Amino acid sequence: MKLAFTVTQQQRLIELDASGDIDGLVFNNEQERDLSFRELNRELVQKNKQRLHRLREETMRPAVRELESLLIQALNKAGFVEVATPTTMSAGMLGKMGITRKHPLWEQVYWLGKNTCLRPMLAPNLYYLLGRLSKTWPSPVRIFEVGQCFRKESKGARHLSEFTMLNMVEMGNSADSQKRLEEMADLVMKTAGIDYRFEGENSEVYGNTTDVMVDDVEIASGATGPHPLDVNWDIADSWAGVGFGLERLIMAKEGFNNIRRVGRSLIYLDGARLNV
Ligand code: ATP
Ligand code: MG
Repeated sequence: MKLAFTVTQQQRLIELDASGDIDGLVFNNEQERDLSFRELNRELVQKNKQRLHRLREETMRPAVRELESLLIQALNKAGFVEVATPTTMSAGMLGKMGITRKHPLWEQVYWLGKNTCLRPMLAPNLYYLLGRLSKTWPSPVRIFEVGQCFRKESKGARHLSEFTMLNMVEMGNSADSQKRLEEMADLVMKTAGIDYRFEGENSEVYGNTTDVMVDDVEIASGATGPHPLDVNWDIADSWAGVGFGLERLIMAKEGFNNIRRVGRSLIYLDGARLNV
């Protein structure tokens, strides 16, 4: 009879970021299995310790935070102005994005009260600012925000309930907003140093969107205007916008199997499990 790792062994190895391949491993007897577990465990513990060592001795900042700084510099250089908006959001702002009770995203929103939630996205605030700034700033208006977003998620290894979004948007530069969207996404992906491809997608908020994909993982979603939602925000010009998940970017760059390693956490730090 062939044996697989016990559930506890599997759990431990997955915590340490073993690849999915351990699922398929079989052994002739318990001794062989336990020996293999101990070896794998030792290797992975070592890897996690090295990562913590690297944080202390070399990088001194978690990879997500370092990437954030790199991207802010690159976006500033490309003429995008950083903005900072509140983390709490009114139901009215969501409503203007078409997110009301019947919308699938509604169920994922963390409510703080009847009319206030933790923002599930940055787009409503950026939309609002675009409408305001376009009245005082010359065209094109280019802004971006990097900040925490919150969604109740039931899905596994690629979703956090608290994650970092980078959303950049440009208005009034070019009639070919699709081309601008792709150039903007390319700037971010080049800065992060990650190969990618575009994929057409149907979004619950925007209708047709362009996704940035690495293997089969969505890293970003972009949309263009003129768009039917624009009237809610006093916007008439053409625009392009794209929102990236920074933890997804690091996951792709470093080849991590689970996004929890790089999210805000007391169990992991910068990709390393703390109980090693
Ligand atoms: P998915 O289909 O993967 O759930 P989404 O299409 O709902 O993502 P968007 O609303 O397009 O997500 O958000 C833009 C980006 O933010 C995504 O491409 C992804 O990189 C990131 N993102 C969204 N939800 C999460 C989450 N729960 N945890 C981590 N990153 C997320
Ligand atoms: Mg998307």
